[in-house]
Amino acid sequence: MTDFDYDLFVIGAGSGGVRAARMSASHGAKVVVAEEYRVGGTCVIRGCVPKKLFVYASQFHEEFEDAAGFGWTVPKATFDWATLRDNKDKEIDRLNAIYIRNLKNSGVEIIESRAVLKDAHTVHLVAENRDVTADKILIATGATPNSHDGLPGVEHTISSNEAFHLDELPKSIIVEGGGYIAVEFAGIFNGLGLETTLLYRGEEILRGFDNDIRAALHEEMEKKGIRVITGSVFENIEKTANGYNAQLSSGEVIETGLVMLAIGRAPNTTGLGLEETGVSVGKKGEILVDKFSRTSVDNIYAVGDVTDRANLTPVAIREGAAFAETVFNNNPMAVDHTNIPTAVFSQPEIGTVGLSEEDARAKYGELDIYKSSFRAMKHTLSGRDEKTLMKIIVDAATDKVVGCHILGPHSGELIQAVGIAVVMGATKAQFDMTVAVHPTAAEELVTMKEKWVAPELIAAD
Ligand code: FAD
Ligand code: NDP
Repeated sequence: MTDFDYDLFVIGAGSGGVRAARMSASHGAKVVVAEEYRVGGTCVIRGCVPKKLFVYASQFHEEFEDAAGFGWTVPKATFDWATLRDNKDKEIDRLNAIYIRNLKNSGVEIIESRAVLKDAHTVHLVAENRDVTADKILIATGATPNSHDGLPGVEHTISSNEAFHLDELPKSIIVEGGGYIAVEFAGIFNGLGLETTLLYRGEEILRGFDNDIRAALHEEMEKKGIRVITGSVFENIEKTANGYNAQLSSGEVIETGLVMLAIGRAPNTTGLGLEETGVSVGKKGEILVDKFSRTSVDNIYAVGDVTDRANLTPVAIREGAAFAETVFNNNPMAVDHTNIPTAVFSQPEIGTVGLSEEDARAKYGELDIYKSSFRAMKHTLSGRDEKTLMKIIVDAATDKVVGCHILGPHSGELIQAVGIAVVMGATKAQFDMTVAVHPTAAEELVTMKEKWVAPELIAAD
């Protein structure tokens, strides 16, 4: 018999918290989860799912245009934002209900409240103004969008949270940032017909990704009509009669209908009572954990974005599952954070697994690089000027594929399968042994025979 109200108190019903709660309950634990906004968390409510629905919506206009080369005459298409937004909301409500049902069916109690730690075993429920106790506590509070502190006019900007609920679409938008959210939303708004500018402070968007992929996406985004400004940030946002005047550090002033910030996300630990309990945090406020997601306090664990390891839904889910196995099934399980396949739902899409060429060079030294850049078969008739890029990075000493990067349609789908091979430690020779599927774009992955040689090396020969 435990002296506590619950065996496990989970703070946050997002990807990680829900998985941990359900699995812990399935191992016999008495579990409660507190959620301050909506069950499902960022991914389901205002992240991956609604974002992907918007990406689909924004791609139709190219489909209509591309159809002409295949003999179709499509009448002038029109788009209604309210229909998309409201249909998306219905789908999110449906998923939210499924998440609630699944938790309840697993025997997990749900409390709709903000939860704050009082001490290592006590949680205060703000909405109900009462305390409950638990043997183990799991913090799965995710992350929140960074604001641009000190930017004059920052109150006029929106984040991805608001982008999902706009009353109406403006005619133009500037999105600041060069990461996942910025490039995805620039593609969405551009596809929905807004005059779109992407503003990034560095030299090239998507820092940390393979340089060829970054440059190729930049080029393709510009071909689709997005203005990409690098090396500049907002200095001031001023409200005008028709929208906003955005002044950039370069001196340029851009008139725009909306300003969106996508400048990263911070672990959601502010005001959570961590100081009171002695849970250690890092520089960004991320909760520091060991490989079993245990914090500096023995009975308190943390999973997902709040730990800032790899901020992706499948990773949060895996960390939540590993926590339940470790703590409630007597089966210590640590998540391997290497070789995580991921997709950026930019337009075109990116699929990537393993190391970029730059990181692989630092780790392995000599590499064999295989690259293929081509026009997808569909565009021979559609006439669209869009390139697909595939790149395989091989450790020359072992022939192991240590990175694969794709820019092109459906590359998120493709990289899931390539990821299996890379996680298994496949060699380039094994890629080559695999018979091609024809005619596909993916067949390039098993037919790239020529090692890529830097032009300066060819010139030196
Ligand atoms: P979350 O899902 O954020 O859940 C945390 C929950 O805790 C929230 O519901 C919050 O309301 C609640 N909470 C916070 N504090 C408290 C408190 N004190 N008391 C009670 N409740 C609290 N990842 C992908 O893999 N693929 C994608 O395509 C993708 N797209 C994304 C698009 C956008 C716009 C964003 C913002 C993120 C996207 N992500 C994507 C990232 C993904 O959403 C996160 O990695 C994932 O949701 C993390 O799960 P989590 O459980 O750590 O936190
Ligand atoms: P990212 O960390 O991916 O990108 C943040 C961007 O903002 C970077 O380009 C960064 O520049 C820039 N930036 C940071 N601070 C400032 C500043 N003060 N002024 C101007 N620019 C700034 O964060 P996101 O918000 O795009 O997304 C958060 C995370 O959510 C992602 O990293 C990812 O883990 C997850 N996500 C996953 C998706 C998916 O799987 N498809 C989709 C969306 C989100 P710099 O590079 O110079 O630091």
